[in-house]
Amino acid sequence: QARTLVHTSNLYFHELQGQVASRLASLSGLPRTFFCNSGTEAMEGCLKFARRYWHTGGCANRAGFVALEHAFHGRTMGSLSVTWDDHYREPFAPLLQDVAWVPAGDEAALAAAVSERTAAIVVEAIQGEGGVRPLSLAFAAAVREAQQRTGALLIADEVQCGLGRTGHAFGYQRLGLQPDLVAVGKALGAGMPVGAVLLSERVAAALAPGDHGSTYGGNLLACRAALVFLDTLTTGGLLENVRRVGSYLGDGLTRLAERFASWWRDMGTARL
Ligand SMILES: *Cc1c(COP(=O)(O)O)cnc(C)c1O
Repeated sequence: QARTLVHTSNLYFHELQGQVASRLASLSGLPRTFFCNSGTEAMEGCLKFARRYWHTGGCANRAGFVALEHAFHGRTMGSLSVTWDDHYREPFAPLLQDVAWVPAGDEAALAAAVSERTAAIVVEAIQGEGGVRPLSLAFAAAVREAQQRTGALLIADEVQCGLGRTGHAFGYQRLGLQPDLVAVGKALGAGMPVGAVLLSERVAAALAPGDHGSTYGGNLLACRAALVFLDTLTTGGLLENVRRVGSYLGDGLTRLAERFASWWRDMGTARL
């Protein structure tokens, strides 16, 4: 690809974008794609598109986000605003003001935080930077319930847990969640910088040309890399192998943790 054409102005359509978008759509069920260059840009896009959705619908004051404690969503201003760790946030304050925090796993706190003022709930199916914490099925059910009760959109940050790492195309699929917006990055370019926002039709329909954009997002070289990655993901039994090896490692590590539980306790005491 580098020998032919690396980039065109984004005024022009090129077929590789269409191919990547249609592959991502068939994996996710979300029909539209916005291309960018990184995970944090993908999250930034999700937050902006959620606000734009309500703005277009005549509810411009429906601008709040509900995010989870220990979440990590990136380092640009919007993404940082829904990132939990004070260490990342505090030197750059003030960030977005309309963010409510909920402990992951606390269904009652989620129900209390999500209201008709919530533009979107923001989740990682498995919190990555936050310490590899999977969301429970019960919490996922509470997320669905909050979406239905208030109409709030759901943003799934799949930058780390998506694109095959759980043995499913996306981590939210294991939980039965139905996001309107999905952020992907990291694995997508297999080392080339590329990210994407996957959108439901109703959110895409609320956007107008020129609302958002990216000079290099979805360039030909990045899209070629994404196509090679998506081929690897969907052929040759990779996902099946991830599930098989993942459960082998999970079982073995759980057994080791049990076997050495008392040893760790003694180590802790010895250090104290
Ligand atoms: C890494 C990460 C990001 C940010 O991606 P960058 O490409 O580093 O900007 C966002 N969300 C999650 C869950 C991540 O793990």
